[in-house]
Amino acid sequence: MGKVYDLAVIGGGVIGLAHAITAARQGKRVVLIERERRANGASIRNFGFITVTGQERGASWALARRTRDVWDDLAPRAGIAVEHRGLLVSARSPEAIAVIEAFLATEMGQGCDLITADAFRRATYGLGGADLHGALYSPHEIRVESRDAIPQLTRWAHEALGVDILTETVAFSSLPPRLETSRGVIEAGHVVVCPGDDFSTLWPDRIAAYGLRRCRLSMLRLADPGFRLPAALMSDLSLTRYTGYAALPEAAVLKAKLIAEQPRHYANGVHLIVAQGADGSLIVGDSHHYDDLPGPFAPASAEHDILDEYARAFGRAAPPVLERWVGTYASADDRTWLVDSPAENVRLVIVTGGTGASTAFGIAEQVLTNLMGDA
Ligand SMILES: Cc1cc2nc3c(=O)[nH]c(=O)nc-3n(C[C@H](O)[C@H](O)[C@H](O)COP(=O)(O)OP(=O)(O)OC[C@H]3O[C@@H](n4cnc5c(N)ncnc54)[C@H](O)[C@@H]3O)c2cc1C
Repeated sequence: MGKVYDLAVIGGGVIGLAHAITAARQGKRVVLIERERRANGASIRNFGFITVTGQERGASWALARRTRDVWDDLAPRAGIAVEHRGLLVSARSPEAIAVIEAFLATEMGQGCDLITADAFRRATYGLGGADLHGALYSPHEIRVESRDAIPQLTRWAHEALGVDILTETVAFSSLPPRLETSRGVIEAGHVVVCPGDDFSTLWPDRIAAYGLRRCRLSMLRLADPGFRLPAALMSDLSLTRYTGYAALPEAAVLKAKLIAEQPRHYANGVHLIVAQGADGSLIVGDSHHYDDLPGPFAPASAEHDILDEYARAFGRAAPPVLERWVGTYASADDRTWLVDSPAENVRLVIVTGGTGASTAFGIAEQVLTNLMGDA
């Protein structure tokens, strides 16, 4: 007779892991089922940037604050390094400063500051062009190296929390009490399906009802610039992309100006995030191309635009490119995550706003409270 689990989680990305870890910490017997040898999707391809500031006002912002706190608690327990903390968003026009000031006037500005161009340069070893006007500083973010952190978190979930991890195993069905997988039947009382942007293996009709598409992003790793960043960096374009800023009325003025000045950056969905790893190299991106199946073919212009925005924002050419990759995630026009109940004791959880690393634990706590009752 095989083991009977309280919870089976399908999908070993950050969303599945967050559910498995949260349930296991509540004393549940948990199995995590992952198709690949190890997670290889969006969760290991991202910046590892646990973002609070700039998240959509309201529920997403609250989920991000909770998720950041959980990461902060778990990272040292799981042996995961926090590479840096905080965020600096440089601004090179009065219109960008107006967005920052409007943001600071909201509840989301709590703990954040508008700093001068000189203060930004002092903090960043002189980054910033002649047109730098100032910057937003937020202390709230943390950054981990996802390609290491996700496997490490998976190991820790197994070793410290007793989560059984079944890799190279495809779940073909997800109805308790018996789940069909490519390695036989798993018995579990509850199931959470976290398939990322696999829309076709489990509950395809339920997923289709949400009208999801996929977004493909281009990412770069750049050589160590020779100094350590004090925080992750973003620039003007981000103020028109991240909903926490972009939904403010002042952002419409900035966006109109930037579309006129940098039309191709908008066509490629480019904005700038720069995060630094332990070896000093910079994770830099990204672009956004939406389609039902974006494919692996990323336009060279997207990479050019990312590097161009780096040079515009920081007043110096970007360091040499060491690596390139693309990633995809599920995308919806009307929501940043969805929780569906396709059957009793089953939840389908998909983050549709490119923010899964930043909201995973907050979402998992809510889903499990609803599903199993005693988070
Ligand atoms: C380039 C890039 C940069 C990003 N930057 C950030 C960032 O800095 N901060 C942030 O918060 N978010 C960021 N995101 C978004 C974030 O990475 C995603 O929201 C998050 O990783 C989604 O996690 P997931 O677990 O749902 O999906 P995935 O990581 O794709 O994992 C889903 C897993 O489910 C498995 N699976 C699916 N179906 C089955 C099945 N039937 N049986 C077994 N296994 C199955 C797949 O093999 C896969 O491993 C970024 C995304 C990308 C692509």
